[in-house]
Amino acid sequence: MTDRVVIITGGSRGIGRATAIAAASRGFKICFGYAANEAAAREVVSTIEAKNGKAIAVKCDVASEKDILGLFRAADEFGTLGALVNNAGIIGVTSRVDEMSAERIQRMMAINITGSILCAREAVKRMSTRHGGKGGVIVNLSSVAAKLGAPNTYVDYAASKGAIDSFTIGLGHEVAGEGIRVAAIRPGLIDTEIHGSGGDPDRAHRLAPMVPMKRVGSADEIANAIVWLMSDDASYVTSAILDVSGGR
Ligand code: NAP
Repeated sequence: MTDRVVIITGGSRGIGRATAIAAASRGFKICFGYAANEAAAREVVSTIEAKNGKAIAVKCDVASEKDILGLFRAADEFGTLGALVNNAGIIGVTSRVDEMSAERIQRMMAINITGSILCAREAVKRMSTRHGGKGGVIVNLSSVAAKLGAPNTYVDYAASKGAIDSFTIGLGHEVAGEGIRVAAIRPGLIDTEIHGSGGDPDRAHRLAPMVPMKRVGSADEIANAIVWLMSDDASYVTSAILDVSGGR
């Protein structure tokens, strides 16, 4: 599996960045997407190259099918695809469902659900033995919000992650005989900039006392679980959803 390309959506910051660096240190060639932050994307490429890894960054908004096809074309030129990490995702500002606009909900679903399914479609076309591929792994980023529902915060986000859980189970079964494993990680409260993008930068730290382990998690702790799922050590794991949440 090493020596092969992994595509990571949203690899410029947070969990995606940590996953890119962890996968590169295990020998993967990294092709990652970013939405807008070119400086952060360049920093990730430099960090990986400084440790003799290989990485390319491609501007790719996963709400755009055209961008997704461009990301996969860039990966095709880079090498043989071995894994996809569907990491790109957004939250919304704290609100009740009866305050949400249609535009907000549609954008949430376009990025968090449709983007992940379209990326998986492209990965299956390349990795499935049914299509002449050599197999591979797809790891989807869900959230413990899928179990908790996130009332009075962002039920739309929680629902999008519930869809990711169902998608993981179904796609895993669909391609289990074609050399592809599919799994999801449900992170808990992780110390990244996503909370600031929802207008509440201190959210994770404020809620930390409610976590059984009494602390937030780090992006590296999620990345370590993702690269384990990508590895042959997880060779009998498919259609599985792993909570990495300090017990939350
Ligand atoms: P983050 O720190 O906000 O980073 C988001 C990354 O995704 C950035 O690289 C960003 O690119 C990219 N991105 C944003 N919108 C995008 C779009 N439309 N198309 C493509 N890329 C896009 O997020 P994170 O905390 O690392 O979260 C990563 C994943 O883990 C998400 O799916 C999230 O739902 C899930 N998760 C996170 C937590 C948590 O507590 N942090 C908990 C549960 C689940 P730019 O740099 O260009 O903006």
